[in-house]
Order: sequence, then structure tokens, then C-alpha cells
Amino acid sequence: MCENLITRLWAIFLVCYNILMELSDKLEIKFRLDVNQKRALNKLKLFSVADLLFHFPVRYSDLSVVKKISELVPGEVQTVYGKISKLKTKKSFRSRRPMGEGEIEDLSGKIKIIWWNQAYLAKMMKDGDSVKLTGKVTESKSGTYLANPEFEKIPNMPIDSHDTLFKKDGIENTGFSFPIYHETRGITSKWFYHAIEKILKEKTLDNVVDYIPQDILEKYHLPTLKTALFWIHKPKNDKDAESARKRFAFEEVFCIQLERQHDKLEYRKNKSFKITPDKKDTEGFLARFPFKPTLSQDKSIKTIIEDMGKNYPMSRLLEGDVGSGKTAVAATAAYVVVNQKKSLESSRDNLQISKNLQIAYMAPTEILATQHFESFIEYFKHLPINIGLITGSGCRKFPSKSSQKFGTASHSEAGAKEWTTISRSQLLKWTNEGNISILIGTHALIQKSVKFKNLALCVIDEQHRFGTTQRRKFIRKDNIAPHLLSMTATPIPRTLALTIYGDLDLSLLDEMPLGRKKIITEIITPNKRIETYEAVRQELKNGRQVYVIFPRIFEADPEKELALNVKSAVAEAKRLKKEVFQEYEIGVLHSKMSKIKKEEVMAEFTKGEINILCATSVVEVGVNVPNATVIIIEGAERFGLAQLHQLRGRVIRSTHQAYCYIFAEAKSAKTIERLKALKTAKNGFELAELDLTLRGAGELSGTKQWGITDLGMEAIKNIKMVEAARLEATRIIADDQELKKYPLLKEKVRTKTSEFHFE
Ligand code: ADP
Ligand code: MG
Repeated sequence: MCENLITRLWAIFLVCYNILMELSDKLEIKFRLDVNQKRALNKLKLFSVADLLFHFPVRYSDLSVVKKISELVPGEVQTVYGKISKLKTKKSFRSRRPMGEGEIEDLSGKIKIIWWNQAYLAKMMKDGDSVKLTGKVTESKSGTYLANPEFEKIPNMPIDSHDTLFKKDGIENTGFSFPIYHETRGITSKWFYHAIEKILKEKTLDNVVDYIPQDILEKYHLPTLKTALFWIHKPKNDKDAESARKRFAFEEVFCIQLERQHDKLEYRKNKSFKITPDKKDTEGFLARFPFKPTLSQDKSIKTIIEDMGKNYPMSRLLEGDVGSGKTAVAATAAYVVVNQKKSLESSRDNLQISKNLQIAYMAPTEILATQHFESFIEYFKHLPINIGLITGSGCRKFPSKSSQKFGTASHSEAGAKEWTTISRSQLLKWTNEGNISILIGTHALIQKSVKFKNLALCVIDEQHRFGTTQRRKFIRKDNIAPHLLSMTATPIPRTLALTIYGDLDLSLLDEMPLGRKKIITEIITPNKRIETYEAVRQELKNGRQVYVIFPRIFEADPEKELALNVKSAVAEAKRLKKEVFQEYEIGVLHSKMSKIKKEEVMAEFTKGEINILCATSVVEVGVNVPNATVIIIEGAERFGLAQLHQLRGRVIRSTHQAYCYIFAEAKSAKTIERLKALKTAKNGFELAELDLTLRGAGELSGTKQWGITDLGMEAIKNIKMVEAARLEATRIIADDQELKKYPLLKEKVRTKTSEFHFE
């Protein structure tokens, strides 16, 4: 009996051991790798068999439409597959414009290729590459050629020989597609194909255990992990591939949601300073603004005050376009906190706190922090409180009279209306003692050395994800955590917001303050360029300033890309000076310049010494230059709408009428139609939604910073999927916050989300 048990245990051990061996096997043990391949796999962070299985194809090549070269019909757009050779670039005979040339060959014949004006395409391939080309078969005096074909590099796999591709009469592989993997120097898509093929053949998948609960898979008709892994690498048809991708996309959003929902509950376990506002005082504070709050500002303020009156700390995100007035909302929230007069009862314990409450306000840049410091002095100077500024380059305090005891003197005394620079240690000391009511700063605010006595509210402006790790720093030893108000102007679709900000409640400022002049936006086709320059000249004559923004030029090589982007801004600045705006000063700002040089140029622009600033779109032109009222965006069709909207936001601060000229090179009606949305959309969020529906998730700018993979972004397109993931995650976490019943899932979340805070 005992022996029997031991044998059984041994068998179980063997099975388990086998699972571990299989999936956790190091790739270098399983495969013969050369140095370059090892380096490449390291770079892609692929170390084990499991890693490789989760390295999904970026797409599938559909060979069903491929034509034999000998059967191409002139005048039609067709696709061929073969080896490319004789690649070269030269200047075209007549126009002297750069062009690319080459030849493609399959078993049936060969055809010449010409890329008019796109010489760089010829440089993106090399002789001998197997490629799929799609272009117009064009007849000319010197013979038939394929004009400006789109290309796709294809490993000559799995059809290593053309015989299998063209067994009978040309188009024969209907529905047959094979995976294309992301390549990097040293490793090819073909290698991945073979390696994964080997893993699949060895039945490694038999040991895979699913981490997603069975009931969820069934409810949403998702394939099991084993099936999905097989289908994603070796789909029999489109449906299988799609089904597998759907599962992994769901899984990603589900994992993010689990983490966020966990964090949300976790933060709520803390105690908070329960704020009870004085309605009259709050109205009085709002009345001091030289404007009437918009309806959405009013609504947000109301919600925030309600949140801060609850038993647990607020976690709220305030979304609103640039200029929608987020600062006034934040200032009002801050006011309610500093105005808290009565001794406070902390929410859960009966802890008495008679001290004054504090606010931290974190801005993304020094300039913005300083600007906020100045505005807050305006908002709060009538109150007996101290305001501090802490940045990398120094500290300030308002009012300047340092001897002033909190709550005793009034600021009307001489000299009290000014701020003064103070030492960092002094400011930190006062903050620690609770004598600085509002501390404004950059990242310097969350350094360890900064300690608050009674931090009640934390305002975070434009930090894309102010994560739990950072938040934790604000939680006191006695578990009192500040109310959290995050603010952002980055326009993203609702599905994405629900996902990445899953731990926050959302408020939206979806209207612009009344009386604000709308930026006049025009879509300019190439034939209207000169006219437009004249309109711009008129503004320059009126003393206004102009931004000219250049698009990103997408290049495979990031270094080259940067160089090209810079080149276009520099070249255009020269051209404008020489041909168009001779009488004006033109400056250049790009990402390759040193920080000092950038600041110099910005300072000159701010002072008005530069009239026209040519900048690459990657450069943050974050400074407020109210006199800059015109923005020209070149190559606009290359941008997403939301991104264009954000660029345009740079001229919104002025009291003068602002103009945005969207220069589009493309003549396609569809492109122009899309760009016209910039004239009609109500706000950036609407444009982000449009980007998502018109061009897909890949168009949303800055996806990398949100830590979502391209596959995960597919879920973002699907509100139903996002809602399902959120619903299920919330349900599970509510019942089992630490995922004790789901150890495999917990492990998955741990590896998937970079920030992970389960016990
Ligand atoms: P953002 O949302 O970009 O942070 P700000 O808070 O800086 O916007 O506000 C932009 C400008 O609009 C500021 O000059 C501010 O005083 C002004 N403003 C804010 N709210 C209103 C309003 N309701 N009516 C008129 N002007 C407003
Ligand atoms: Mg702001």
C-alpha cells in the first residue's frame, strides 16, 4: 500500500517534472544557437520554451492571392512572390528625383520593379530576400514592370521551394497562410517558424494548464490555452487565428484589470482624512475666479468633494483637453482641503487630528510647476497659508515673510505678497512640520526626503500612470493615505481609459470654457500652400508667432528615423527663410539638440526674437507662448487625429484668434475626409475614438507607454471585450482579492503586468 503510494507519487513527480522541463527549458539547450541568435533572443527577452510559445506572429501571410509572374496582367494591381535581386537606387532620368529599382523572380519568370520617388524602399531589402510584392503591373516602352509595389519580407518558409507554391495552375493554396514573426538582427522569422514547429511537434502543449478560469472561457467562447497556442502559430484558417488572437487579447486586458482592481481595493483599505466642505466658503472661492465654471467643471468639483467625504481615499482621474480648465477644479479641491477648519475625524478610527491638512501638487515639468506655483499664489493669497515650490533647480515659499506663524498673521503685511527662495532643507522641514499647506513640484515631490505631516490630497498632473509604487510613498505609517486626483489631457478612447486607468474613477471635462475662441482649423491641399503662407504672413505682420511642426518619418532604423526627422525640420526652415518668409527670424527645435540648446531656442521664441519655430513633432513644445497663434502641421496624413489635436493645442492659450493649418500631401478624398474631423469633433476624446474606428488601435499614439502589446490593443477596439474583462476581473477580485483560489492566474498577472502588488 505504502509502496503503491510511493510509486504513484513518483509517477506524479515525473509528470510534473516533465511539464517543468518542457516549458521552462532554456532555448539554448533545446536549440543549437549561434552567437547572433543568442544575442537576438536575449534582446527579445526570449529565454525559455514557454517564452517562445508566447512569441506570437505579428501577422499571417496569405498566399492565396499570389500570382505567377508569367501570368501577370498589365494594368492591374497584383501580388507576386519570389526572390528579389538587382536592387539599386538612382536619379530618374527626367525629373532627377531619387528612384529605386530591382527585379523579382519566381519559377515562372521575372519582372522589373520601379519605385518612383521611393528610393529608400529599395534600401530596405537586399538581393536574395524572399518577398511578397503588391503593385500595379505597368507597361512602358522599355518593358513591363511592377510600379511602386508594397513589400512584405517573407521567410522562404514554409514553402521552401516554389514547386509546392505553384503545384498546378498558379493560384492553388487557397486559404493557406503562415505566420510572420517579428525579426531582429540575428534572428529571422523563418527561425521562429521552425523552432516553434519543433516545440509543437514534441507535444509540449499537452502539458500546458490554462490559467484562465474555465467558466470565463466558456462564457465568452474563448479557446483554451492549449488550443489557442496551437492556433496562433499554426492556424488552419483565418477563423482559428482570429479566435486565438481574441483569447490572448482578452487575457491581456483581463490581467491588467485584475491588477488594477486589486490595487483599487488595496488603496481603499487605507484610511483617509474625511473632508467636510463648507458650501458657502467653496462658493466664495469659486467666485474669486474671473470666470464662471463650466457645467462639467462644476460637476467634477461636486464629485471630487463627494469622494473626499467618503470613508476611504479618493482615486479619481480627471480627463480634459488642454485648456478645459483642470487647474481650477484642482485648486477648488485643494481649497476645500485647506479650508477644513474643524478638528478632523479620520474615517475609520476615531483619530483626532487638529493639525492643518496638506496638499501635494505634482506637475510634469519645472516650467509648469513654477507656473502653477504662481497661479496658486493668486488663488490662495487671501488665506493664511504657506505655499511651497520644490523642483530640481530650487525651492520657493510664499509668502516671503518666514517668521510668519501659521494662522496668526495675515498676508496683507508689507512684503507678504511676494515669494522667496528658500533652502531645500528648510522647505522640507516646514513640510514635515505641516506648515506648508500646498507643496507644488515636479518629480522632486515624491522623493523619499519629502515628508508631509498631514497629507490629505495629492494632485497629479499628466503622469501617464501614477502607479501604486509611487502612490505607496504617500501612505503614512498609520495607514492614512491621501485622496488622489490624477489629471490628463491625453486623448484616449474610453476602452483604453477603462483598461489602463482601471483603478481610477473617471470624470470628464468635455466642454471648453465659454467665450474661448475656437482655433480656426483649415485642411490645406498642396495647391493652396502659397495662399496659406500669405495668410500666415498677415499674422506675422500683426506681431504674432508661428509654429511649423514636422511629421515623424517612419523608418525601420530608429537612428535613421531620427536623422531624417531632423533633416526635414532643418531643411524646411532653410527653405522657408530663403523662399517664403525672408523678412522673419526662423528657429529650429529638434530632439537631437542638447538640452541647453533647446532651452536657448525656446527662450528666444518666448521673447519673440524668433518669429517662426520649425520643430519636429517629437519635441515637446511644452512651454506656453501666448503670442504664438499659428500652427502649421506638415505631412498631416501621417498623424492620428488625436495627435493632431494635441499638437494644435499648443496655440490654444492665446487671447488672440488662433489658427491651425493642416498641410496634407495626400490627395485622396478619404484622407481629406478623415482630417476634416478636426474641424467638427467636439474634443480630443472624440477624435481618439475616431482614430480607433477609422485606423485601428495601432494609430493611438504612444501605445508603448501604456504597457499594452499590439495584440492587447486589439481588445481595445472592442468595447464588449473590455467590459467583459473588467466585469470578470472585478467579480473575481471582490471575492478573492489575493487570487488565492487562482494560483496560476496570479502568476500570470505577476509576469504580465510590470507593476504587481499582490501579496
Ligand atoms: P488645463 O485643463 O489645460 O490644465 P487650465 O486649467 O490651465 O487648463 O485652464 C486654461 C485657461 O482657461 C486658464 O487661463 C484658466 O484660467 C481658464 N479657465 C479655466 N476655466 C475657465 C472657465 N470656466 N471659463 C473661462 N476660462 C476658464
Ligand atoms: Mg493643465
